[in-house]
Amino acid sequence: MNNSIASVPFPENEPIKNYKPNSQEKESVLKTYNKLKDSNIDIPMWINGKSVKSSKTMNMSPPHDHKHSLGKYYLAEKKHVELAINSALNAKEKWSNMPWEERAAIFLKAAELIAGPFRDRINAATMLAQSKTIYQAEIDAACELIDFLKFNVHSMQHIYSQQPKSDSGVWNRLTYRPLEGFVYAITPFNFTAISGNLPASAAMMGNTVVWKPSDHQIFSAKIVIDVFKEAGLPDGVINAVYGDPEMITNTILKSKHFAGIHFTGSTTVFKGLWKKIGAKIDEFISYPRIVGETGGKDFIIAHKSAKIDELVTAIIRGSFEFQGQKCSAASRVYIPKSISKKVLEKLKKQITTIKMGSPENFENFMTAVIHESSFDKLSRVIKKVKKDKDAKIFVGGGYTKSKGYFIEPTVVTTTNPKYYTMENELFGPIVTIYVFDDNKWDKTLSLVDETSEYALTGAIFCQDRYILEESVQKLENCAGNFYINDKCTGAVVGQQPFGGARGSGTNDKAGSYLNLLRWVSPRLIKEVFVPPKDFKYPFMG
Ligand code: NAD
Repeated sequence: MNNSIASVPFPENEPIKNYKPNSQEKESVLKTYNKLKDSNIDIPMWINGKSVKSSKTMNMSPPHDHKHSLGKYYLAEKKHVELAINSALNAKEKWSNMPWEERAAIFLKAAELIAGPFRDRINAATMLAQSKTIYQAEIDAACELIDFLKFNVHSMQHIYSQQPKSDSGVWNRLTYRPLEGFVYAITPFNFTAISGNLPASAAMMGNTVVWKPSDHQIFSAKIVIDVFKEAGLPDGVINAVYGDPEMITNTILKSKHFAGIHFTGSTTVFKGLWKKIGAKIDEFISYPRIVGETGGKDFIIAHKSAKIDELVTAIIRGSFEFQGQKCSAASRVYIPKSISKKVLEKLKKQITTIKMGSPENFENFMTAVIHESSFDKLSRVIKKVKKDKDAKIFVGGGYTKSKGYFIEPTVVTTTNPKYYTMENELFGPIVTIYVFDDNKWDKTLSLVDETSEYALTGAIFCQDRYILEESVQKLENCAGNFYINDKCTGAVVGQQPFGGARGSGTNDKAGSYLNLLRWVSPRLIKEVFVPPKDFKYPFMG
């Protein structure tokens, strides 16, 4: 019998473990790291709950040790993508008709599994696959994914409880149907939490999903799949295929049942997807939902009243944690002349103490960038800066790829506020500083607003409340997540719903009810208890 109105547990953010020297948690995660490192694992696709292999494979290596093999994964052919689509369509009816409490229980169980028995595995896999330090892995793969799952379950209940008013004699009810068809999730390399959340959030609302993770995250995506299996996710609800993104996408878009895309990745790729979907709009049963969180060129602007030590810490953490490979990473900084000397001196002093290497060594603040093409792109940028007249390397600028793809934390200074590295997303540990005249505060705010196509995150450091208030207004459209006296990274689910506008995405705020609303198509049911029996209205006499 199911006749009660259930109330899901109230979500709390997952406490972050600190992995201090000699702690049990440090020892435990390193043991798992070494075990996984030598596991030489085979990762098949996951379709209709089964492991599916193909004739083609690709090797996986840690970016900080690219000659070491972690194992291989299997690449999809067209027939595997079609199998995944059919599997999602076949699973749909049973899954969407399952009481929402049961769906909630599966994802709450997944969250508890990550918090407990899978924590070390998901963190260690993220350290290996994406070269994250333990702290970066913990706040992403463990804590953020747990939070996504728990807060989304809570939001799901909130959405289902939103009902219209009913006048006397009438009862209006809203049901929140999943989309008609299947959802396509495409995830980026940089967050294990995003890889789990994009398919899970759509599935939670009763949809079934074909999921294509990034080639550079499959090693940790496999742990996400293991968690979903262990949590009891029925076969076919989420189907994972790997490989050629063009072929996979083209095959997906051939299906008239394609109902929506849940994407996180670069702006160029997202714009390409939007165009492809638009060109095929006559072929789908419904208008597909298009949700995409994309690139950023995130800024920090300091006022002369800023506290210097706080600013310096924010620049270092915001620009260099996870090698600057967060969509929210600070990559252009505006500093007033009056404090610039002190800020630059302190930056140099602290940055030269940063240790970089394997995530196994917990003294390292930074590790390697994700792959060779990223390394090559970043080293080309550094070479260009060294040649250009309007910019120079202030700190860093070194790189080597002999063992891993290592780029030193690099500060560029420029006299040109529209310099190449002030405008374009580089996605690496390179931050550019522009020093402005203290008297040109308003003009600099306009520069911040007009310099890039993106509007994801931004931060202001300022102690003067009048200036602060005016500036926050003036920078209204520059960032979907705006920080006052804080670095521009590190959004926490349930506290700082994340997403940007302009070239940075559709701003549907992953991890909040706003995002979940995109995966439902409400149906209104009106019931009249005593219907009228005469077509004439009183005004007709
Ligand atoms: P990417 O765009 O290269 O890849 C993202 C996903 O898209 C991957 O799964 C990839 O295989 C797939 N893809 C690539 N080309 C495709 C194509 N032609 N058709 C279909 N799919 C395709 O991005 P990335 O390097 O994995 O991640 C970094 C980017 O993601 C940065 O631009 C970053 O700012 C952005 N990002 C944004 C957010 C956000 O919330 N706004 C979060 C994380 C990352």
